[in-house]
Amino acid sequence: MLFAGYEKTTLHSEKKKNAGHKILSHYMLRSNVGLTMLKIGGGAVLLAAIVAVFVVATQGRDPDLEALEQEGREYIAHLDRRAGARKNAASLAEWAYTSNITEANEERRIQVQLELSKQEKQAWSETKMYRWQDFQDFSLRRMFKKYSQLGVAALPDDKYKLLMQCVSGMESNYATSKICDYKNTSKCDLALEPEITEIFAKSQDPEELKHAWVEWHRAAGARARQNFTQYVQLDNEAAKLNGFKDVADWWLSEYEVPDFEQQLAKLWEDVKPLYQQLHAYVRKRLRDKYGENVVSAKGPIPAHLLGNMWAQTWNNIESFTRPYPDKKEIDITKTMRDENYTPLKMFQMSDEFFRSLNLTAMPEKFWKNSIIEKPTDREIVCHASAWDFYDGEDFRIKMCTTVDMEHLRVVHHEMGHIQYYLQYRDMPVIFRAGANPGFHEAVGDTIALSVSSPKHLRRVGLISGDAEDEQTEINQLYKMGIDKIVFLPFAYVLDLFRYSVFRGTTTPDDYNCHYWRLRDELQGVEPPVNRTEEDFDAAAKYHVSADVEYARYYVSFIIQFQFHRALCQLAGEYVPEDLTKKLVDCDIYQSVNAGNALSNMLKMGSSKPWPDAMEALTGQRAMKADGLLEYFRPLHEWLQAENQRTGEYIGWEPSKMQYCTEEQLAALDAKAKPEPVHES
Ligand SMILES: [Zn+2]
Repeated sequence: MLFAGYEKTTLHSEKKKNAGHKILSHYMLRSNVGLTMLKIGGGAVLLAAIVAVFVVATQGRDPDLEALEQEGREYIAHLDRRAGARKNAASLAEWAYTSNITEANEERRIQVQLELSKQEKQAWSETKMYRWQDFQDFSLRRMFKKYSQLGVAALPDDKYKLLMQCVSGMESNYATSKICDYKNTSKCDLALEPEITEIFAKSQDPEELKHAWVEWHRAAGARARQNFTQYVQLDNEAAKLNGFKDVADWWLSEYEVPDFEQQLAKLWEDVKPLYQQLHAYVRKRLRDKYGENVVSAKGPIPAHLLGNMWAQTWNNIESFTRPYPDKKEIDITKTMRDENYTPLKMFQMSDEFFRSLNLTAMPEKFWKNSIIEKPTDREIVCHASAWDFYDGEDFRIKMCTTVDMEHLRVVHHEMGHIQYYLQYRDMPVIFRAGANPGFHEAVGDTIALSVSSPKHLRRVGLISGDAEDEQTEINQLYKMGIDKIVFLPFAYVLDLFRYSVFRGTTTPDDYNCHYWRLRDELQGVEPPVNRTEEDFDAAAKYHVSADVEYARYYVSFIIQFQFHRALCQLAGEYVPEDLTKKLVDCDIYQSVNAGNALSNMLKMGSSKPWPDAMEALTGQRAMKADGLLEYFRPLHEWLQAENQRTGEYIGWEPSKMQYCTEEQLAALDAKAKPEPVHES
């Protein structure tokens, strides 16, 4: 799964623990001013309130309140230390299980989590006693706010345990699923990593690809349906106990802005014209290769032909779809193998890049405790991840690294998480998280944008020969585009789907139908064979089976270009309007200027709302697609001209594959229709 590594889960926090709101309204109700108003009542309220504010303002603060705030400060410092110890214990048990999947380790993990959740509940009921909403200190209020969310531990013990078991069940099913070989049908031990991933990377036989696609979805998808349905119920109950409408509401609250969902939609509107051009171009190239019977002229692209199980990144079809095929192909993987690269060397290179920016070197324990190659003596969760053990010194990566260009980028992605952990390790435990979940995902990718620039690859000897010309540059941008641009609709769909599941808009008997309607409509891909509700294709994606929110990756793929542009300007590598300093060929390597700016943002952890963190680095306070669109502008222009030249249809008509029944469609149509108007 060469590129799935681009969106690795991070186990750096208890995912849904922290969120909160309504500081201001609570403050008004519970403050001294409020109490004065209640005592006096009636018409004198306004005057009394004004007087009270005046008195507080002129005489300084109420000494009682100040004493309470001091007490709160001491309490929270103590709580934070205990929380750190709990997170440490939880991470160790989680690591033990995912690095050696056995029933005993799974049971132990659940036991540890149960015990810790009891302690959390206890601490939470103490925290609730404080009237922290009145405190003056912003950070203190923010810590209290985060600690007054209990998370899934709010469930009663039996339900909590059941929820853990559902997720564990899906995760281990995903990690241990195997399929049979297409040609040698008695060979049935093909795992996702590396065998199935390799089939998608290399095979150009549509039937073999279809076989691998169907079998994987049967094993990892359909078998997770029951656990998933129960998990949705239980997780929604937990959401309600935390004061949210449902899990969708809970997930979105982590982004701390009320119109976040609309912002996601707006970003997609901005990127869509570029995606449609890229989609049309790739469909034409695939049609030329596989014929019109396999790839239609105006329909969605069959999902098994894009070089990736989920059609989320299309890099593996680059060799036969690139704009200028006659330009010498730059095969970095081959060079890496020729030069005897090892997983260790790849991690050392990444460490060296971060150090060149004046950022922090990986500590000794990191090198000692990480797992960077797939063990042969046991089952592990291969899906790469970066871990913070919350003791300020133990940080690890677990990854089944293969020596190729894609994994070199995944290594940087994971190392970006560790760098973030290192930068904010002096923060209180509760602030040791990304400014929002997307920030954490964006750090390593931002670095990888420099690493994969031709300039940098040349610098480290992975490219040699002639310098770049215009055609090579279009090829290079295309390569980035089938990684970064095509990922956006995939990521967007995955959580649009789950939002509607958690909200109950999509019920279990419509899971697969709705999932494919979204993929058809937004991503422009279709399943290779008809689907039914016997299938459950969403769970064949790791993050659905492992209960990891996904909008973070969508956010990350947008904001990493904002970060990249800002860092490149600081490094003097990008100058707007200067054609010799283009964004596509910027490498921030060795720029202390850029590194310090990045460090300033990372150090903040989640102590401030994310727009503050974003402003610290980029000067912008909003997510914007402009960095990405600027980066890809030459490609966009080229694609427009090329699609016009070949007369390719832009966009796609609905798929002719069947994934909803007539009844489902009729029911959905009925739902979508406005209420009939009754005339008397
Ligand atoms: Zn990640």
